[in-house]
Amino acid sequence: MRAKIVAGNWKMNKTLQETEALLAELSAMLPDSQAEVIVAPTFVNLQAAQAALQGSTIQVAAQNMHFAENGAYTGEISADMLLSLGVDIVILGHSERRAYFGEDDALLAKKVKTAIAKGMKTIFCFGEELEERKSDKHFEVVESQLKNALSDLDADAWKQVILAYEPVWAIGTGETASPEQAQEMHAFIRKTIAGAYNSTVADNVSILYGGSVKPGNAAEIFSKPDVDGGLIGGASLVASDFVEIIKGI
Ligand code: PEP
Repeated sequence: MRAKIVAGNWKMNKTLQETEALLAELSAMLPDSQAEVIVAPTFVNLQAAQAALQGSTIQVAAQNMHFAENGAYTGEISADMLLSLGVDIVILGHSERRAYFGEDDALLAKKVKTAIAKGMKTIFCFGEELEERKSDKHFEVVESQLKNALSDLDADAWKQVILAYEPVWAIGTGETASPEQAQEMHAFIRKTIAGAYNSTVADNVSILYGGSVKPGNAAEIFSKPDVDGGLIGGASLVASDFVEIIKGI
């Protein structure tokens, strides 16, 4: 059975002290849930987050990483650096990385390949822009994003992949895909994977929805059969909101 997951992407938010405070608050409020809970603080606070969460079921992820083993890549972070901190989950392909830092499918394919080879779990983000949805190209766009970045993976590697469908028009905008729109796309994604691999791979991969998930809409979105949880931005920065979202699973 595939995992239910709620992951918080903290983006470029929270100082060291704020990270520790938010994690303390979250740990104290964490409900019993069938969902795996993941938080992704900024790189510089990963070590502190790991220390703060010792003995907790909350897992820590990085928000990005480089594809190379090591070398002259000023300012970059390698898989081994993350693993040396005990961080074995990485978010790749977030729309902000694509839009502001020029990350394209070809680069993401290399990053995913490295993460998988290093034994890491990858939360792979993708999703269409508003114009693409308006012009009815959303299925085509999503299919090509998946194909371009993930088609080199063998069936076994998919055990390390978590997908996050995040329509760009719903990220940080307050506008959410309707539960029906999310279900429709998630079912399409699962069908695409079944076609490219087989139904076992498709049935076992967790597909998260991301885009303005809030305490008020989480449960309805998560109730859809192909929605296995959420990748949460803004609402993951407030412990009580994140906890309410986790309770929505
Ligand atoms: C995100 O950035 O992955 C995201 C879903 O953000 P928000 O929840 O703020 O829309």
